[in-house]
Amino acid sequence: MKHLERRQQLIATAIELNTSGINQGTSGNVSVRVDEGLLITPSGMTYPSLTPEDIVLMDLEGQASSPRSPRFPSSEWRFHVDIYQQRNDVQAIVHTHSVYATALACLEKSIPAFHYMVAMAGGKDIRCAPYATYGTQTLSDLALVALKDRKACLLAHHGVIATGSDLSRAFALASEVETLSQQYIAALSVGEPTILSDKEMEIVVDKFSNYGLNVSQY
Ligand SMILES: [Zn+2]
Repeated sequence: MKHLERRQQLIATAIELNTSGINQGTSGNVSVRVDEGLLITPSGMTYPSLTPEDIVLMDLEGQASSPRSPRFPSSEWRFHVDIYQQRNDVQAIVHTHSVYATALACLEKSIPAFHYMVAMAGGKDIRCAPYATYGTQTLSDLALVALKDRKACLLAHHGVIATGSDLSRAFALASEVETLSQQYIAALSVGEPTILSDKEMEIVVDKFSNYGLNVSQY
């Protein structure tokens, strides 16, 4: 079986999503880029029950194969494939229905620069893509627009996509988006937060890119 280590890392990241509390049950999914395309969590299996053989290999045309047939890729494989096709900078993708980020997504709210850590997603805001049915090409197209020049976005009435140059960075960004969402909702509950200027956010984005997104440094 090819990519044993990558498959194990994928399972570890998926389990960490649940143990960290940012995802529940089987609603999220995780993928990582490999030479042939991507490895992605299968549909309808709980993460702790996954073995490396359950992980599905897909090419960038959307053809799937798995050492243990029949395993089907996550029903949301389409945006994973399209993101890897169109974004050379992305090596890993984490998708969750984390509670606070999804709450904002249900209000169709993007996250503005109310806090400088919003820049961790690559710009002055974290956009919310309009709603489309899960698993569809339309949802994938809308997500890619929301992800333009960004590493993360919300999906209206659905959840979050976080990307990264590896699995741990994609996971860290998914966690950060959830924390920011919780902070934004807390701030909104007592008033309207002022928004940092575009110029200030450019400075922070620049600092983050210079320091390799190591959040512990801030
Ligand atoms: Zn979803």
